Amino acid sequence: MAIIIDEATLVTPERVLIAPLRILNALVDQIGGWLRPDQGDILLRLPGHLIFPGLINAHDHLECNLFPRLGNRTYSNAYEWGKETFSRQREPVIDAILRVPMHKRLLWGGYKNLLSGVTTVAHHGIYVARTLDHGFPVRVLRDYGWSHSLGLGENVRRAYLRTIPDHPFLIHLAEGVDDVVAKELRLLDMMGAMRSNTVVVHGLGLSNSDIALLSRRVSGLIWCPSSNLFLFGKTLDIGRVKRQIKVALGTDATMTGVPNMLSELRAATEIGALSAYEVLKMVTSSAAEILRIAGLTGRMREGLAADLLVIRENAASSPHQRLLDINREDIRLVFRAGVPCFGDEDFQDLFEFCGVDFERIQVGDTDKLIVRGLNELVETVSDMLGGALPQRLI
Ligand SMILES: [Zn+2]
Repeated sequence: MAIIIDEATLVTPERVLIAPLRILNALVDQIGGWLRPDQGDILLRLPGHLIFPGLINAHDHLECNLFPRLGNRTYSNAYEWGKETFSRQREPVIDAILRVPMHKRLLWGGYKNLLSGVTTVAHHGIYVARTLDHGFPVRVLRDYGWSHSLGLGENVRRAYLRTIPDHPFLIHLAEGVDDVVAKELRLLDMMGAMRSNTVVVHGLGLSNSDIALLSRRVSGLIWCPSSNLFLFGKTLDIGRVKRQIKVALGTDATMTGVPNMLSELRAATEIGALSAYEVLKMVTSSAAEILRIAGLTGRMREGLAADLLVIRENAASSPHQRLLDINREDIRLVFRAGVPCFGDEDFQDLFEFCGVDFERIQVGDTDKLIVRGLNELVETVSDMLGGALPQRLI
């Protein structure tokens, strides 16, 4: 049974075209040509709609998205922020959130991402298979090595050596603006962990020559501008950096970042003076290449996963620009691996056709359908926090 989408405009960083698209067995099976439904197929006519590849959030800490933004000044580096924020005199809300079971906190982060059109997330933390493998709202990068940073967590050299060379090795590096983090590139190199599969998150405190060196040695940099601005009052000169190294975009968690990827897209465009095309690339094809999942997702191409984000077009905006104008309620439909997982109520037949276990929610003033679990999650977590939710999903 296939799904054929017709009359919509397909938008990727490289091209914009009106063409039919067939989804079969979780993949984009065909784009263009003569596509007519066979018996048992479903035909979706979507005139006036734009279809983007599902977005990739290249950096999040899924379990940390219940937190409000923590911190009330600018810091020199992330270690200083961490020490102060999680000190003994910390705010009571922190302990209340930490008492919420890990699988619920991870799920919260999963729904946060899905509700903003993200279909794949790179989670900076331990891959908790029993939560993330089945029935999770988004795909979570599974094949990776990681270390928190040079100043926190386990020995970086050991973590790097344990990483399969074909997998990305993710590490926060130079998250700050002082001398402490300025030395981190050299330290990483001394540990033998600055190689072709290394992916640097932040890189804020790196000099021009550091970035040049990095670009020759590692596969890419993940930029989280809102989080950087909140903590340090500045972020990378991305206009310069993007010319040297491949860049992907991450939201980071809500304890330092903005509430979701759609806000981050706008922030990135404004802060970095980037075009809508460049930002789209950072959350699709470039992110997939850096995270080494380009054979799976990140483009709208035959043979790749049918991860798609559908929104309405607007005559006043170019197709690329339109993505930067929308809020969560404007998302018409999200497919992950060919299955609808979030969308407007008029797609109920499609959800039923695909056998999705869904529920109704309200996003802003709009009624939506979403893969089941969100209502119960919000209710339970709200009870656990005494009705006071620092972050709202719905
Ligand atoms: Zn982070």
